[in-house]
Amino acid sequence: MKPPPFAYHAPRTLGEALDALAADPSAKVLAGGQSLIPLLNMRLAAPSALVDINRVAELDTLRVGADGVRAGALARHARVERSDEAAAVQPLLRSALRHVAHPAVRNRGTVVGSLAHADPAAEMPAVLALLGGTVEAASAAGRRTVAAGAFFRGPMEPALEPGEIAVSAFFPAVPPRTGTAFAETARRHGDYALAGVAALVTLDAGLRVAAARAAYLGVAATPLVLDLTGPAGPDGDWAAAAAHVRERIDPEGDVHAGADYRRHLTGVLTGRALRTAAARALPAAG
Ligand code: FAD
Repeated sequence: MKPPPFAYHAPRTLGEALDALAADPSAKVLAGGQSLIPLLNMRLAAPSALVDINRVAELDTLRVGADGVRAGALARHARVERSDEAAAVQPLLRSALRHVAHPAVRNRGTVVGSLAHADPAAEMPAVLALLGGTVEAASAAGRRTVAAGAFFRGPMEPALEPGEIAVSAFFPAVPPRTGTAFAETARRHGDYALAGVAALVTLDAGLRVAAARAAYLGVAATPLVLDLTGPAGPDGDWAAAAAHVRERIDPEGDVHAGADYRRHLTGVLTGRALRTAAARALPAAG
């Protein structure tokens, strides 16, 4: 199918992009186009105008510091995935991005676009939610920072107002004695997951579990973050943590997998991801 008609703006600066959005409240930002263009072609979206940010050089950034990774609105999935600097500071990004679609989609799609799309089945929202990251939004009126916990309001419902562009997202670094892991199962590699989990485990000085947390995709309307410190206990009873998760989640079934199968699978992936995260939290031998 072909998209409905729309006006097209190709600004060269952030200011021009924000002006174009401010002038038309039903305009939409076009980033990688990997979700928006299919929606237009299927006529599931009909914005009056597209504001294509691909020429806005100041959004094409990837900044890595000791405190975390800041992806600008034009940082493609592939760029973030391939960045050794980003992987050193926050390895969960690379682990999760390997499960996002296929290389061709990752070459074009953006990490911030994935957050702004707010698909509960997507990997990046769960990663941001687990890490307690933030999204920086800009409009003609100014800038504000939105915490991950407040950013995902519902399926495809980010906390962005008309006229706002998500200019960057910040993924905090891994704290000391902390490991992270990502696990998912899809029918084919690159498909949206039947179930997926991002996990984080922090050990104390005696190498007992001080904190265990997991974020889930595809089981709720927004990324679901569960504190598993209590159920796992200080010795890391991952089977107990997985059992707790199976009781807490309420996945929906569809033609690809029933609800019971998804619940079971989520438990299995939880145990796997927590075990791997805990192993990664151990200090390097030697
Ligand atoms: P676009 O398609 O350009 O935009 C998506 C939405 O976000 C639009 O509403 C747009 O207005 C808004 N938006 C984008 N950027 C901004 C911004 N900076 N500020 C404000 N609003 C903005 N994703 C997964 O997570 N996991 C998968 O397994 C997966 N599989 C896929 C398989 C296929 C075959 C395809 C085509 C896509 C798949 N995707 C998957 C989606 C892909 O990751 C997209 O790249 C991503 O969802 C959106 O990023 P984008 O830059 O392409 O955004």
